[in-house]
Amino acid sequence: MLVCTKCYSVYKVSSLYSGSVKQNEEGKFVCPSTTCAGHELIEVDDQMVDVVLGLWTVGIRTTESCSGHPRIWSNNPYIILELDESSFAVVSMMRHLNNGRATIMVNQEEELIIIEGMEAPEGDISYKHKAQYEFFQFIYEVFNEMGSLKKLRA
Ligand SMILES: [Zn+2]
Repeated sequence: MLVCTKCYSVYKVSSLYSGSVKQNEEGKFVCPSTTCAGHELIEVDDQMVDVVLGLWTVGIRTTESCSGHPRIWSNNPYIILELDESSFAVVSMMRHLNNGRATIMVNQEEELIIIEGMEAPEGDISYKHKAQYEFFQFIYEVFNEMGSLKKLRA
């Protein structure tokens, strides 16, 4: 999917072929919304779109993510957050809910938080699917908890 970091609109990759999403002079794909005035779109894996938008909505910025592609062995699912007050606030909650489903690394030097799914043994495709499923379950549990925290504060 193609996502606008300004208006949070999501476009299917097929929009590129239908012409509803256009390229700028540099060949970068830009948001067709008139209010975004040519803001560049970023590509996000389908399964990761709601995760990324959910984080942005609560003020957590992301730098990179991958939903993990069980057919491609080198990739575990992961998402990288910018380290700041809002992202750091959820780290202890993440550690509490994790239960072995993800690795959570805080990199102070580069100011990033890396959340990565478990590594599957070489050649074990069923484990790879399981690890991906558990990673997303974990992330959505974190979201639920963040929602209930927000309600408590309100
Ligand atoms: Zn936009």
